[in-house]
Amino acid sequence: MIPRRPSYEGISLYSPPAVHCRVDLSDNTNLFGMPPAAERAVREFAPSLVSRYPISYAPELKQALASYTGFEPSWLTTGCGSDDLIDCALRAFLEPGERIAVPDPSFSMLAYFAKVNGLQFVPVRLRPDFDIDVDGLLATGARLIYVCTPNNPTSTIVSRAALERLVDAAPGLVLVDEAYAEFSSVTFEDLVRSRPNVIVTRTLSKAFGLAGLRVGYAMGRPELVAEIEKARGPYKHSGVSERAAIAALTEGLPWVKARAEESKQIRKRLVEELKAQGLQPLPCEGNFVMIPLPGAPQVAARMRELDVNVRAFKGLTGVGDALRIGCGPWPMMEAALQALREARR
Ligand code: PMP
Repeated sequence: MIPRRPSYEGISLYSPPAVHCRVDLSDNTNLFGMPPAAERAVREFAPSLVSRYPISYAPELKQALASYTGFEPSWLTTGCGSDDLIDCALRAFLEPGERIAVPDPSFSMLAYFAKVNGLQFVPVRLRPDFDIDVDGLLATGARLIYVCTPNNPTSTIVSRAALERLVDAAPGLVLVDEAYAEFSSVTFEDLVRSRPNVIVTRTLSKAFGLAGLRVGYAMGRPELVAEIEKARGPYKHSGVSERAAIAALTEGLPWVKARAEESKQIRKRLVEELKAQGLQPLPCEGNFVMIPLPGAPQVAARMRELDVNVRAFKGLTGVGDALRIGCGPWPMMEAALQALREARR
């Protein structure tokens, strides 16, 4: 007899729609590509590293992250994407059956990670101004509260006052997901130092252009990071990924910063153009824009016929139907704007 976990009954694999279009703006990755320095590292190191195990717990990558973030290596851990670190944190700090509180809407993977870790997923609606509902999150009693800022999919940010009040009153940990930090006017890594109960996760999948190589990191007090590493295990990204990540964080950094800056300018221009089409995008701080639009799934389907893929949401809490469009080189934005115009005709 095959052993099965009863709590896995009804869990289906997490699979974002796989669509191939000439212009794909659906997953908030770096549409400018990867830093040339990282590309060189992949070419140079792949032949010698592929047949060997990487060094466990990635000390050189941690060193590069320490220089980039200003945190000592003992305050850092890395993972197979920040997805992995979120998953590991849930396992490290919560027992099956416990609650995790998550603003709604937010990053859709959280519901999945909660389920596969046997946790109770408790969504708490964002306020009408898209800030977190601090009292609502606290009222759940959850020992781990997740907050994403800039928030996927809305691209809105949490206010410092709300986040600090949450962290100071939380009965346990607050995990702040800053996957889009490089595009935001506000970040919260300072809370990692000033408070005992904050973990911030980040990724090299977005601004750093390495989504396919799967590298994320978390910042937290050494005693918190050590718990995540226990849940994580030793080999979570490949030696090649490590080398590319180190190159992106060092030699590639000017490229990364320049592209992030460019994305912010493009986002501003995209918002203006969307408004000129009579649309009202939400305030945005990620490398993507959310546009409430009744019938968004149908509009996105028509856009796909025009070879442009954007993410559509149906009946999102507090937003309704909406499109999410990633920001990239302007010709891609022009293609999206044109397709959107035609699709809404
Ligand atoms: N957090 C947020 C908010 C995201 O949008 C994503 C990617 N879609 C991730 C985490 C995970 O990214 P990765 O695993 O590639 O680091």
